[in-house]
Amino acid sequence: MNKKFDLLIIGGGAAGFFTAINTAVKNPGFKIAIIEKNREVLQKVKVSGGGRCNVTHSCFEVKKLLENYPRGNFFLQEPFQNFNPRHTISWFRERGVKIKTEQDGRMFPDTDSSQTIIDCFIAEVKRLKIEVITQKRVEKFSQQNDLWRLDMQDNESLFARNLAITSGSDKRIWDSLAELNLDIVPPVPSLFTFNIPQHPVTALPGISFPHMAVQLQDSTLQSEGPGLITHWGLSGPAILKLSAKAAIELNQRDYKFKIKVNWLGKISKDKVMEELRAMINSFPKKNVNAHPPFELTQRFWKFICDQAEIKEFQKFAETGKKHIAVLAGLLTEMEFEVNGKSTFKEEFVTAGGIDLEQVDNKSFASKKHTGLYFAGEVLNIDAVTGGFNFQAAWTGGWHIAQSVV
Ligand SMILES: Cc1cc2nc3c(=O)[nH]c(=O)nc-3n(C[C@H](O)[C@H](O)[C@H](O)COP(=O)(O)OP(=O)(O)OC[C@H]3O[C@@H](n4cnc5c(N)ncnc54)[C@H](O)[C@@H]3O)c2cc1C
Repeated sequence: MNKKFDLLIIGGGAAGFFTAINTAVKNPGFKIAIIEKNREVLQKVKVSGGGRCNVTHSCFEVKKLLENYPRGNFFLQEPFQNFNPRHTISWFRERGVKIKTEQDGRMFPDTDSSQTIIDCFIAEVKRLKIEVITQKRVEKFSQQNDLWRLDMQDNESLFARNLAITSGSDKRIWDSLAELNLDIVPPVPSLFTFNIPQHPVTALPGISFPHMAVQLQDSTLQSEGPGLITHWGLSGPAILKLSAKAAIELNQRDYKFKIKVNWLGKISKDKVMEELRAMINSFPKKNVNAHPPFELTQRFWKFICDQAEIKEFQKFAETGKKHIAVLAGLLTEMEFEVNGKSTFKEEFVTAGGIDLEQVDNKSFASKKHTGLYFAGEVLNIDAVTGGFNFQAAWTGGWHIAQSVV
């Protein structure tokens, strides 16, 4: 069976569906098909956000939004002026999906179910008569005259005037793109937690910190945000953010590196010493380890006191300058040797992909090949957690739809 299309899309994920639907809306009568290698489409959408799908983030200022993209922030500057979280919310609202905001800015369908997003996409592809071809892996694609030819695993070929690659982190597709002389930035993992094997702090799993700051040693990279102690090391937004910012560097260091943690975020060592001196004056007769400063938990403060060799019943009045400096140091610049990484709630993202130098950010089209477009994770764009990765997929898909002719 040989078929000719106006637009073929490789990959039935977030970027693929958004590209297809928006292109069909913009170009009624276009013959469009999405080709998906798996039996089910939108599998990552299904499991995303713990099954709730964190569709975007309530970050409406483009400059601020861009800060969440360690790779792609320059490229996305202009596209985000045209399609950003505000547009995402309206897009879904127009299709009957209400989006709600959580306290930390993450946005979800108000049903708290990713199935709502999937149902919306499936209804749209039916309405717009977009073909969805599943269980067909695209093995190869090439340009023949003014058509793109796609060869599938069962020797079937499809042809199209336009080809959108929305295949996520698929090595086979990256290899095909390299054959078209497109540069691929080697993929490395992003968004992971840090392993600190055998460190005594791992005896305190579950303790969280509202504002934590992490600094990568021998580097200027740092991050801030909530933090969490786990059985194997450190996690939470501050750690995930640093893992994304430093994804390439940490890969080069084979995930063996040192970090400095300020459990109190921006509060300086001097400020902590000042506070401890004030506590000595206020409660001289009280036990140090029973009175945590800065609303730290009792368990964590006891751990810090043990590390500082504060005796079990040591009173504030018995605490000298040296102890104050050690306690303040442990709270604001505790050092850890990280050895290895772990996946965060199975939510992995890949840094790397098609080098953005070769992509026009007005159309998400290849600068080298006519009729070739890219959106989503196949590009060298990735973000921290919070709905930003999907936002990049929506923005890319929307721009393709405006440019495909
Ligand atoms: C568990 C998990 C939870 C996540 N949660 C969130 C979240 O809540 N919010 C957020 O913003 N981001 C989240 N992410 C990241 C987000 O899912 C991705 O950034 C996003 O799915 C990328 O979309 P995509 O369409 O580019 O790629 P994908 O969703 O990976 O889709 C690519 C599709 O292409 C298909 N494909 C690949 N190669 C071929 C081929 N040769 N032939 C045919 N088909 C092919 C694949 O099977 C796949 O269906 C999460 C990721 C994971 C793993």
